[in-house]
Amino acid sequence: MTNRKGVLYVVATPIGNLQDISERAIATLKSVSRIAAEDTRHSARLLSHFGIGTPLVALHEHNEREVTPLLLNMLAAGDDLAMISDAGTPLISDPGFCLVRAARAAGFRLVPVPGPAACIAALSVAGLPADHFVFEGFLPARPVARRRRLEELKGESRTLVFHESSHRIVECLGDMAEILGGDRPAVIARELTKVFETIESGGLATLLAWLQADPNQQKGEFVVLVQGRPQAGEGTLDEATRQVLAVLVTELPLKQAAALAAKITGRSKNELYAQALEMKKEDR
Ligand code: SAM
Repeated sequence: MTNRKGVLYVVATPIGNLQDISERAIATLKSVSRIAAEDTRHSARLLSHFGIGTPLVALHEHNEREVTPLLLNMLAAGDDLAMISDAGTPLISDPGFCLVRAARAAGFRLVPVPGPAACIAALSVAGLPADHFVFEGFLPARPVARRRRLEELKGESRTLVFHESSHRIVECLGDMAEILGGDRPAVIARELTKVFETIESGGLATLLAWLQADPNQQKGEFVVLVQGRPQAGEGTLDEATRQVLAVLVTELPLKQAAALAAKITGRSKNELYAQALEMKKEDR
């Protein structure tokens, strides 16, 4: 008898182009006792394409509370399991959170087998700042809630990344243009890795007009990326911040002055350091 516990592999699968599956994903999916899949019929096609005969068990948002304890029992009995979603990385706007949280809480080993995620693929080609970004997933379907969320995001300075479906892409772009501003730079990444892959950049109003002009561009799956709002007076300081920094640079070394001013004002340390340097130069 063995008391080895099973391992839960969280495996990413392609978002369109089947060649994007990794060798490690195939080997893992072949080696485990069972694969928990969002839609077993959909995944059966993918698995048969790669000659993977591992039995499937359905795990989706409607049954994850009942199925999770059964999967934990299998792990406890020493069975290795894999979890996949219909496309891309599980948990990223996809089921799996309940199982992952429960498996971690129960002390099982979890191993990611990374691969495609539409939001990351889109960010990698959008030409918008990708050093800091906010992944928002799907906006609410109801117009009032969607518009409220966009209002909340209006002042966000990091790149905003959204998932959107063909049903709501036009409405969604319309609300974004109105609330975030028609001139705000944005990118629509449509049907990534598929035949009709399209990556279009422009202001939100221009992108909306482009979508409306061609119903073919409204089909498929979308990632919408929107540049963050420049911070008020980015590059220049408001008077209150300037005064705080001016006092601190007379008392402290530049680095410390910038760090303290950043704490007091909430602005970026790097920006304040650059401004503090300028102040020192002006004093000479
Ligand atoms: N887990 C997936 C991932 O890692 O990309 C996301 C699943 S979510 C249910 C489906 C949404 O992801 C779509 O509505 C779309 O916003 C985005 N998406 C998935 N595949 C895509 C693709 N090939 N091109 C553009 N967006 C895609």
